[in-house]
Amino acid sequence: MLMTMKDLLAVAHANHFAVPAFNMSNNMLLRGVIEASEEAKSPVIFAIHPDELAFVRPAFIKTVIEEANKIRVPVCIHLDHGSTIKQIMEAIQCGFTSVMIDASTRPLEQNIAISKQVVDIAHCVNVSVEGELGTIGTTSPQAEAGTDDIIYVNPADVETYVQATGVDTLAVAIGTAHGLYPKDRKPKLRLDLLKEISARVGIPLVLHGGSGNPDEEIAQAVKLGINKINISSDIKNAFYLKCREVLSDTGLYEPLMIYPACIDAMKKVAHHKIDLFDATGKAALYECRA
Ligand SMILES: [Zn+2]
Repeated sequence: MLMTMKDLLAVAHANHFAVPAFNMSNNMLLRGVIEASEEAKSPVIFAIHPDELAFVRPAFIKTVIEEANKIRVPVCIHLDHGSTIKQIMEAIQCGFTSVMIDASTRPLEQNIAISKQVVDIAHCVNVSVEGELGTIGTTSPQAEAGTDDIIYVNPADVETYVQATGVDTLAVAIGTAHGLYPKDRKPKLRLDLLKEISARVGIPLVLHGGSGNPDEEIAQAVKLGINKINISSDIKNAFYLKCREVLSDTGLYEPLMIYPACIDAMKKVAHHKIDLFDATGKAALYECRA
């Protein structure tokens, strides 16, 4: 059941849960995400970053769309961290139903101008738009966009940005970082800030860099208005940890012998996240609306 992010998150917003957005850049991760979401009867977001899109090549999106049309839970196909109009246009032409424009490192006026331009283009063709305020941290060169130091959202900017741009969802920097946290770095979520932002705007809020934060903090964030949480490193790490273990048998070379155990390992993590976001069983809420 392929839909836009706006429709997908409207139900999450009304029912106070968060939909997981899993980043994927190969068929195995796609398959694991589909299986876990169907087993948990959870809505889901297939997230693909422009670097991932360049790696898998646009033809991969044809497979993703076919799977999205067949999957038995609500889904949207989302461009994660688009940074240029060219990337946004390519994603729309590929068939994404949602795009993110991340101009968060630019001054507010420039962020507003480019986000508004993306909204004007995307809404014409019924594609949803996610914007970002503040900047999410990064932990390693393998992780997605981010700054070494997290710049927390200025709550005063939130209403201005949402009203001026017309974005459907907003990613807010409240203390998370992309990638896996090193042992000496503890993420610190500013839940007080999230509460203030939720009170100011009525659109669904998004948490990036959701891998590795304490479960209690994530559960609290969901209660306080987060309706989409991005998970990338946690599922990929589980997948490749198992891969390394399986490949310690140096005689193995057949993909269908190697990958099933890796898919199962990533599915365990996906199931845990779906439960933590209170999304288990929530696909039924969408059937009621149909
Ligand atoms: Zn992100």
